[in-house]
Amino acid sequence: MDGNFNENDISRVVEADRAHIWHHLSQHKPYETTDPRIIVEGKGMRVWDQKGKEHLDAVSGGVWTVNVGYGRERIANAVRDQLIKLNYFAGSAGSIPGSNFAEMLIDKMPGMSRVYYCNSGSEANEKGFKMVRQIAHKRYGGKKHKILYRDRDYHGTTIACLSAGGQDERNAQYGPFTDGFVRVPHCLEYRAFEQDGAPQENYGIWAADQIEKVILAEGPDTVGALCLEPVTAGGGVITPPEGYWDRVQEICKKYDILLHIDEVVCGVGRTGTWFGYQHYGIKPDMVTMAKGVASGYAAIACLVTTEEVFNMFKDDASDPMNYFRDISTFGGCTAGPTAGIENMAIIEDENLLQNTTDMGHYMLDELNALADKHAVIGQVRGKGLFLGAELVEDRASRAPVAEGLVQQIVGDCMQQGVIIGATNRSLPGKNNTLCFSPALIATKDDINQIVSAVDGALGRVFG
Ligand code: PMP
Repeated sequence: MDGNFNENDISRVVEADRAHIWHHLSQHKPYETTDPRIIVEGKGMRVWDQKGKEHLDAVSGGVWTVNVGYGRERIANAVRDQLIKLNYFAGSAGSIPGSNFAEMLIDKMPGMSRVYYCNSGSEANEKGFKMVRQIAHKRYGGKKHKILYRDRDYHGTTIACLSAGGQDERNAQYGPFTDGFVRVPHCLEYRAFEQDGAPQENYGIWAADQIEKVILAEGPDTVGALCLEPVTAGGGVITPPEGYWDRVQEICKKYDILLHIDEVVCGVGRTGTWFGYQHYGIKPDMVTMAKGVASGYAAIACLVTTEEVFNMFKDDASDPMNYFRDISTFGGCTAGPTAGIENMAIIEDENLLQNTTDMGHYMLDELNALADKHAVIGQVRGKGLFLGAELVEDRASRAPVAEGLVQQIVGDCMQQGVIIGATNRSLPGKNNTLCFSPALIATKDDINQIVSAVDGALGRVFG
């Protein structure tokens, strides 16, 4: 740390936290007897807490966000200069960083054309859903309004996003939900044996065909869009099986269904390409992104569409209702696109897509080597620096390890100064995957430290 660390100040901060902060995803009772964790500083891959303890961050700020690492003066300086020049203007006006970042983004997304700015992944997804609904009203008499989403996928925290949420425990206390969202099965091959009728061979085609079955049951003329994560994040780090995406695209085309790809986690480098969908030859109609867009240096999310989708909101100018009747107050902040520009430039200048691919392969191999040693690791999977290790009681039954054990591993690693993650803790039986998403700057030494911490933790918890 930089030496400005003051014990008295920090204990005051801890007390204020205990008195006034309502932490995300937290039961607060334990904070009555233990200190909440305050992160004070970050540099590169590492953060320091209120006790001055150093942690290697293997989850990029907790939730797959700080892709270019901490302490980037280049981003901070650009944002500072822009804020002094013009911090904000919203509504129908544009901005210089807004145009520049949009151009940069579209350059990386062949086939895409328009960028709609907002603040969070949830908001971007909601706006995508609204576009689908408006298209349904305008073109199909309101009929083609249903949005399909997948078991285990997550698209955000609002009621409409939870209505499109495939993680039941996250939803359990927040109904009633919004009409017109329909679930399709997941495509996690490792758990195919739990799905009725799943074949041993060509599972990817079968899993995609299950989507078609739902479309036919609902009526293709009622289905407007399919919203999927290219690699599912919190639902278990699910890489798509062979043949899956080609078939999914065929199905969308056949029934004139818009493909909405949720890149909130995969977006901007995480998997070793600019976007996760680019591994699979997917041609989306809408793409949403948030976390890695500015690596957490500013709050920004984008909904990117094709010109074709955009035109549906422009072509009939004689209709006073034919425009996207939507706004995002903080979509007018210039800090977001300014940070986005520098974030992307850093990824390019430092060749971080290549590093992500190389280090991703290295980490996958190292985790697989760990699986040779610890039978509790049932499967290691992922893409780039977006990896998961699913823990099972035994490899034959693939029964998930008991509740709480995954959190013991996370806690043990934390003791060792390495922050790792786990799949959504509120999914009983499905919260058994350790998650790794170090910054795209990770080195072999960093990865060795992460894997060695997990090795030690697995040895202590599972013997
Ligand atoms: N989509 C996915 C795939 C996510 O993982 C998340 C957040 N974890 C969201 C959407 C929602 O993003 P936000 O929290 O920025 O609203």
